[in-house]
Amino acid sequence: MKRAIYIRPVGDIAPKAIHWLQHDLRSYLNMPVEVMENMEIPGESFDPARGQFHSTRILKEILLEVPGDALKIQGIIAEDLHIPILTYVFGEAQLGGTASIVSLARLEQTFHGLPHDERLFFGRLHKESLHELGHNFGLVHCHDRRCLMYLSNTIMDVDLKGSGYCRQCFETILATMNGGR
Ligand SMILES: [Zn+2]
Ligand SMILES: [Zn+2]
Repeated sequence: MKRAIYIRPVGDIAPKAIHWLQHDLRSYLNMPVEVMENMEIPGESFDPARGQFHSTRILKEILLEVPGDALKIQGIIAEDLHIPILTYVFGEAQLGGTASIVSLARLEQTFHGLPHDERLFFGRLHKESLHELGHNFGLVHCHDRRCLMYLSNTIMDVDLKGSGYCRQCFETILATMNGGR
């Protein structure tokens, strides 16, 4: 059975971004990428005091519905995410596991008070989506500043790093890809 990576839109989200990501991952990873139906944002993941959503709680919901042929599954959400010990996260992934999630909120220039920039937005989405998938494939953070697996604490870090995995990280992914989830 040929396995696929699944994208799970969470909540209300621009279909254009989802389809762009589907094609981007498909060509970068050279494997099937499917899009699932949107799921609702789990109500209990919202933290009213912070006005953000708790990414770990959404990951749990995503894991409740994983297609049988899914190698990995990645939720995409427009809302801003956090985990309790951090002010915000661009995304979260189970290390060596099946599921991850990426937030579009801070990838938008408008979030930072700047004019919309679609090319920059899609470039950031590419980087963050593949970064979280890299964790699913068992990769930890890489010391190579140009590598996708370099830790990004701020949007400047995201913009500074390259848009591909370093050779070593990519080889680990390719070796793991056939090993299943
Ligand atoms: Zn990371
Ligand atoms: Zn690397």
